[in-house]
Amino acid sequence: MYAQNVSANPIGRFAPSPSGRMHLGNIFTALISWLSARSAGGRWILRIEDLDPQRSKYEYARQIEDDLDWLGLDWDEGGLDNRGSHGPYLQSLRGDIYAEALDRLNALGITYPCRCTRADILATQAPHEADGRIIYRGTCRPAVSPPYPRYDTTNRTVRIYVPEETIKFTDGVFGPQSVNLSRHCGDFVLRRADGAWAYQLAVVVDDALMGVTEVVRGCDLLLSASQQLYIYRLLGHKAPAYLHLPLICNDQGLRLSKRDQAMSMEELRRKFTAEEIIGKLAGMARITDDGAPCSAKSLISLFDPQKLPRQQSLIV
Ligand code: GLU
Repeated sequence: MYAQNVSANPIGRFAPSPSGRMHLGNIFTALISWLSARSAGGRWILRIEDLDPQRSKYEYARQIEDDLDWLGLDWDEGGLDNRGSHGPYLQSLRGDIYAEALDRLNALGITYPCRCTRADILATQAPHEADGRIIYRGTCRPAVSPPYPRYDTTNRTVRIYVPEETIKFTDGVFGPQSVNLSRHCGDFVLRRADGAWAYQLAVVVDDALMGVTEVVRGCDLLLSASQQLYIYRLLGHKAPAYLHLPLICNDQGLRLSKRDQAMSMEELRRKFTAEEIIGKLAGMARITDDGAPCSAKSLISLFDPQKLPRQQSLIV
């Protein structure tokens, strides 16, 4: 079982990817994460996860800030102006920091270069085995056991060896979890051949160095927490507390995406006040009984993580 941080002065964060306008699901996460930190007298960081240069746009990040402002969700550190002492807060500016962490993992002899293409990996998958997840079968894994020798990984994908191990932790909403890494994902990618950093590495390095003690986010990332806990351990950082939230789905039961225009902040701001939207989300999170309009601030004293719904999805 992983020892997770339980802090008297929590540091929470919201880590949106600026790949489109936020939707109701994104702001549900933002609100609960903000309330969780604020209700315990803690701090809240805004980190811009713009690792994907093709999909990330400065304009979307600017709109995220504007939408959070409009909703009354203020942050103490981070954002586009890199306010605070743990910056930079844009992942695109943190490449050197990730390179240093990768170097430390390389020095442990548990990383190796991989030549497999996506098609090669898909060809090794048993159908329906993993709900669409891709499990790496270790095609390029060295034949010897770790520690591996140092490899030249220039222009190569770098993977990390995962042991036959079940990672156990307790999620603040979904309770006890145990995930076998080799069955869940296999050896996973830390850096792509084109130099792009993998989310799993970047998120751990950032949360650890920014002093984040609680991670509140959608339950689509619940299983990823096990990969992240593995990296926390290897890098010798204390792991945060995790609270994963139900995903907000549309009336057809499909998870909201940035393409759902009707639930995008652009449309929502046209039709509703900030208090109406916050009130609706507070009702869905069972912070209030009636979902009546209210400010985010007025919910701080009412927030109780024990009451958060424990199902995978909430229909809007
Ligand atoms: N950037 C991720 C997203 O927008 C969130 C990652 C996280 O909270 O760990 O879905």
